[in-house]
Amino acid sequence: MSAARPLVAGNWKMNGLASSLDEARAVAAAVEVHPPACRVALCPPATLVARMAEMLGGTGVEVGGQDCRAEASGAYTGDIAAEMLADAGADLVILGHSERRAGYSETDAIVSAKVDAALRAGLEPIVCVGETLAEREGGQTLAVVTGQVRGSLPASLSGKAFAVAYEPVWAIGTGLTPTLEQIEEVHIAIRATLIEVLGETGGRAPILYGGSVKPSNAAEILKAREVGGALVGGASLKAEDFLGIIKAA
Ligand code: PEP
Repeated sequence: MSAARPLVAGNWKMNGLASSLDEARAVAAAVEVHPPACRVALCPPATLVARMAEMLGGTGVEVGGQDCRAEASGAYTGDIAAEMLADAGADLVILGHSERRAGYSETDAIVSAKVDAALRAGLEPIVCVGETLAEREGGQTLAVVTGQVRGSLPASLSGKAFAVAYEPVWAIGTGLTPTLEQIEEVHIAIRATLIEVLGETGGRAPILYGGSVKPSNAAEILKAREVGGALVGGASLKAEDFLGIIKAA
């Protein structure tokens, strides 16, 4: 089973105005001069997807959305369909981020329906899973994370390109990171579950680590077993920091 190329994706969350496109431009320029070993993607807020996609077309830096709705269209004020992201030029979409699972009561079933929608629109999903601090302290990490993998990944992913991002909720935006042993333990469990559920497709999909990745810890984390890239929040907002992580991959 040949592994997919590692992916380093930046999640800008609800940050970024038109002026922030300069940071994306700087990332693309550096990546063009020194093509990295990994794929690179930026996921700006929905308002910037079209402009960023137009700007980065042909540079090798892919563009993603941060969420989509499962339905293709309809009376869902404020929501965005996967088809709309694809129409705006997106290649990927982050789904099931813990901020959406917690803040919008997104269940595994909802995330799974969104993954189906992403595939329907031709987008590559990055499906996020991860335990809370209480779940880790309660010794439930592997059960929670592998349960999320089983519940959030539909059978329609078979034969398709996708990524899973392991993001411990307590490590997101906190500066805290798990030990390498903890990261490897969870990534190995995710890989075994992916193979069990999706066979060869599950053996190939990159498993990204996310949660306080920065240039100073990226090399160590990205070398860990079964870590196939990173999902980066805060450190993806500045080109210099994001490039430091890309170089480490
Ligand atoms: C994230 O929210 O996906 C994330 C990884 O954030 P940060 O890198 O800021 O912890």
